[in-house]
Amino acid sequence: MEPKLTRRAFLSLGMVVAAGGCASPAREVLVYPHPLLRTPADPVDRFGQPLEGLARALLATVAVRTANGLAAPQIGVPARVIAARSDTGVRVMVNPEIAWQEGRFPSRETCLSLPGRGWFTVERAKRVRVVFRDPGGARRAVLAAGRDAAVLQHEIDHLDGRLLLDRA
Ligand SMILES: [Zn+2]
Repeated sequence: MEPKLTRRAFLSLGMVVAAGGCASPAREVLVYPHPLLRTPADPVDRFGQPLEGLARALLATVAVRTANGLAAPQIGVPARVIAARSDTGVRVMVNPEIAWQEGRFPSRETCLSLPGRGWFTVERAKRVRVVFRDPGGARRAVLAAGRDAAVLQHEIDHLDGRLLLDRA
């Protein structure tokens, strides 16, 4: 493992571009117990061009794996970036945070990083408001309910090194 400072420097230098720089941007998904899945991800402080490769890699991997969402640590990048599917498509969110939540419900979920382990029933907030930056750095917010809200909570959990195993 590289020291944390090195990873921070790596990100701030914009080398995340390299994450999506190859011809096919879809990436291999890390599986449990890979240590990066347990490592809290670093906030992103560079927007725009340095994030383009990572955004492309997340979107391509979600498409190839027909997933509802994916977090950057799952493809080996310890940065607070996720891709999340909703009815309107797949959106890349940078530094997402749950700003408000309401209600609880049992959510049936699976995870690309837990292959062969099937479905887990976990308790999630029923409605959430998530604030985030888009890859260009603009402040955004989204309200989500039900499955869409669960996807956001699942992916944000990944940024904190938390897996379904911890919530089941
Ligand atoms: Zn997952």
